[in-house]
Amino acid sequence: MPDSADASDADCLFCRIVAGEVPVELVHEGDFVVAFRDIDPQAPTHLLVVPVGHHPDVAALAAADPAALAELVAVGRQVATAEGHDDYRLVFNTGPLAGQSVFHVHGHVLAGRQMSWPPG
Ligand code: AMP
Repeated sequence: MPDSADASDADCLFCRIVAGEVPVELVHEGDFVVAFRDIDPQAPTHLLVVPVGHHPDVAALAAADPAALAELVAVGRQVATAEGHDDYRLVFNTGPLAGQSVFHVHGHVLAGRQMSWPPG
């Protein structure tokens, strides 16, 4: 799987979403980060913040493009606030055992209900 900010993987669902080939409800569209509503929401607000460049997980993004990771975190806060939430959870599932199913890094922004700990 490619791991560069310029690479786009034709088989990657989130690359296809970034390219506009798969319809989503976009809530943010920037040069480096997009955000859209999760198709299977686990909270009243459940958004995904996704870098335009293809990186398989958050550690790979941090190593390759720390500025994009910083922007992704900032956009996570921005989209939560825009939906009226000062409190939110930002989750990066990393690897199948941790629940990652799409291997193009994305932060889950979850808000609007009391969160429990530990997560399941
Ligand atoms: P993860 O399991 O952490 O890799 O998260 C992948 C997320 O992508 C899940 O929460 C899915 O519900 C979400 N998802 C999968 N396909 C789509 C889609 N077409 N549009 C929006 N969200 C999606």
